[in-house]
Amino acid sequence: MDYKAAFRTAVEQVRAEGRYRVFADLKRHRGDFPRATWTRDDGSAKDIVVWCSNDYLGQGQNPVVLDAMHAAIDANGSGSGGTRNISGTTHHHVELEAELADLHGKNAALLFTSGYVANEAALSVLYKILPGLIIFSDELNHASMIAGIRNGGGQRKIFRHNDLEHLESLLAAAPVDAPKLIAFESVYSMDGDIADLAGTVALAKTYGAMTYLDEVHAVGLYGPRGAGVAERDGVMAEIDIIEGTLGKAFGVMGGYIAADAEIVDAIRSYASGFIFTTSLPPALTAGAVASVRYLKAHDEVRVIHQERAETLKKMFRDAGLPVMPSVSHIVPVLVGDPVHCKMVSDMLLEDHGVYVQPINYPTVPRGTERLRFTPTPFHTDEMMRDLVGAMEKLWAHCNIARLGGVAA
Ligand SMILES: *Cc1c(COP(=O)(O)O)cnc(C)c1O
Repeated sequence: MDYKAAFRTAVEQVRAEGRYRVFADLKRHRGDFPRATWTRDDGSAKDIVVWCSNDYLGQGQNPVVLDAMHAAIDANGSGSGGTRNISGTTHHHVELEAELADLHGKNAALLFTSGYVANEAALSVLYKILPGLIIFSDELNHASMIAGIRNGGGQRKIFRHNDLEHLESLLAAAPVDAPKLIAFESVYSMDGDIADLAGTVALAKTYGAMTYLDEVHAVGLYGPRGAGVAERDGVMAEIDIIEGTLGKAFGVMGGYIAADAEIVDAIRSYASGFIFTTSLPPALTAGAVASVRYLKAHDEVRVIHQERAETLKKMFRDAGLPVMPSVSHIVPVLVGDPVHCKMVSDMLLEDHGVYVQPINYPTVPRGTERLRFTPTPFHTDEMMRDLVGAMEKLWAHCNIARLGGVAA
């Protein structure tokens, strides 16, 4: 067996499908976000503006968060030193779980190493806790939810994206006495659309199902205290399990679920991905506590964030650039072709100092390749004007369709 050739072939296949990923080597600059320095392969560097960060509110440089992290390192040292069960539960972990439970109006929360791990560990173990469980899963759910549902090995039904009629037909067709769970997201991060939470909750009630909501792209960003879309829509109490990340709007790292104490206690007791891994470093958990507390009390940051997103959408529209419909802070612009998408992204970076990753198949359907912009409160009008100017040039240069579907 030529092992190396097998690895090479696997990568060639990814390349042939236009899915080969090249990472941009960035130096972030504290206090100067979203500016960063990009280092090319040849070692030369260029100053750029980051337009695709999930540090949606710039909390990654908030002095309140950084001070808490510095203090926690000085007080505790670096790592936690163990799993949660074996010396790895510091006071910062306990404090963060209480803070998150309070954020979501639940009486318990449970930390995981990341949002991915939270989804994978929690969803897979629900099949063990609820024998015969059927999970009803939105077709556009994140890879981590799909992994959890597949790894759980039980029955699953996939409903068309945000299609409550289809969901209802699947619920109605399932045995009345089977345990059921609806797994979905609030903000879907590639299109920027938002699920009908109240409608989903109503269906769950009618058919006796539990609800599991991924609010990863909404925590910190929606609702008067930043608890997410469920808080904004007034249905937080009706969602059984809320899952979130500390790595996006909260600007640190880690994942969690918040739910009733009995649910959390069962998942804590059975989920392999929670039990058998070293807990997060105390400094990260301390930083997350500070960040969650800060965003609970600073709704004005969310107001500015939404205004920035609306302003960018309008500037793109006014320039005739094909901004896709989005009801959230996510601003996708349609390119509609994988080669152009990569080319425009490369030229934006090299020629205009604009960093935005191309989003191609299989992350999005073929023909809907796009650039996905995430303006933050730190993206100025001037940065937006520079961006729109660069995009107009490239759209003409590459002859890409503008609004109304015609090429310039
Ligand atoms: C990013 C993401 C996750 C994973 O969260 P991490 O903390 O980055 O591991 C889960 N769900 C969705 C919808 C995401 O976009």
